[in-house]
Amino acid sequence: MRRMINPAELTILKDALDTLANGFSELPDFEADIDTDAIDAVLQEVAVRMQDNYPYHHPRYAGQMLKPPHAVARIAYMLALWTNPNNHALDGGRASSALEKECVQAIGTMFGLDDPLGHLCGGGTMANLEALWVAGRLHPGKKIIASAQAHYTHARISEVLALEFAAVSVTDAGTMDLEALESVLAAGDVGTVVATLGTTGIGAVDPLPDILKLARKYEVRVHVDTAYGGYFTLSSELASAARDAFDVIAQADSVVIDPHKHGLQPYGCGCILFRDSSVGALYKHDSPYTYFSSAELHLGEISLECSRPGAAAVALWATQQLFPMDVGGEFAQDLDRSLLAARALWNRVEQSNLFKALMPPELDIVVYAVNGADAASISEHASEVFHRAASKDLHLALIELPVDMVRHYWPDLIANRDTVRVLRSCLMKPEHLDWLDDMWPLLEAAVKPSDDD
Ligand SMILES: *Cc1c(COP(=O)(O)O)cnc(C)c1O
Repeated sequence: MRRMINPAELTILKDALDTLANGFSELPDFEADIDTDAIDAVLQEVAVRMQDNYPYHHPRYAGQMLKPPHAVARIAYMLALWTNPNNHALDGGRASSALEKECVQAIGTMFGLDDPLGHLCGGGTMANLEALWVAGRLHPGKKIIASAQAHYTHARISEVLALEFAAVSVTDAGTMDLEALESVLAAGDVGTVVATLGTTGIGAVDPLPDILKLARKYEVRVHVDTAYGGYFTLSSELASAARDAFDVIAQADSVVIDPHKHGLQPYGCGCILFRDSSVGALYKHDSPYTYFSSAELHLGEISLECSRPGAAAVALWATQQLFPMDVGGEFAQDLDRSLLAARALWNRVEQSNLFKALMPPELDIVVYAVNGADAASISEHASEVFHRAASKDLHLALIELPVDMVRHYWPDLIANRDTVRVLRSCLMKPEHLDWLDDMWPLLEAAVKPSDDD
């Protein structure tokens, strides 16, 4: 049996649970009645069913935006499940709400926000929904705009909120085109521009300093969606344009970051922050049965979601203790390693005649085309490579890019298709840098299979 977990994790969990239980030892004895044999049997079945997943925890998984939670987050989350706090109200999660407030403050500090209003939530979708909901309340009837490479959630959320949405075209690097932005803004019907710092597809960083300038000129809000990219603000390896963008996040009206993307958390952990805490008034509601235990802020009073896992806050808080969000710290160095891994893969691709390098990675996502003559055949080939690599335990992802964008990097590609399917690797694990030597031959073999493949 190959080892996937360190057994010490279970010992740590048990020790922490004993300490937690000590806090309640004054209560009369009580233990829920469970049928351990039945649970054991069903868990064996679950474990077998769960084998039908790609190996997201392993460095050979270099596909979609998936990063395993750190052991400290996993254990802290499990620890919290024995009391299962609900961070909606202090009645449901006094201790875990306090931890959440500290976590959110720390994220605000990372971005240079002194006194933000914010909270954790289910993920980037929910966090962006809150940002655009507030945007719509403050600029009713006005448009939301985001780049054509922004996450599709912005168009869909706008639909949910009955706000008009428009996409702004992008440069060949996949970042928001400033001339296009200004011509949209000049029409006067825009309320909020969404800047993406790290697009989900290719990791492109929108030019936030210029976007802020234009937004001031046309008096529109700026929302920063850095669900995936946000923690890279701690990196020492960013190119200057990206560095400049991350450095002015605090000037935006709202920011979204997903601790469950690059923050080592299990799924179910997004975060929304508003620069101006007075937007909290927009959330005002009167629940007849929720907020009784104290006059202190209940997180449910500033959040659209009601019940939320206190466990998510517990896990994030524990992680932030072990890995403070410091420039130059261990957490930041791991992010740098991901960035370097992406550049190293891009360099190999650039030197190989089996592939065509496209835009150099700004963060840790690399997109690369299989060499060939025309858009249709290389798209087919990319899908074959994806499957062949997976059969050798190297897991990649695919993305469709506009053919004009690809032709900027590959002018003689025949454009017999509107989009080109290319390979995509999110190198989010710090181990990826060391594993490139292991992965590269598999990648080459997937493009050029030998007879015995
Ligand atoms: C992942 C992502 C989202 C959506 O967030 P979820 O956590 O998947 O709900 C939105 N925007 C960006 C830029 C993302 O990377």
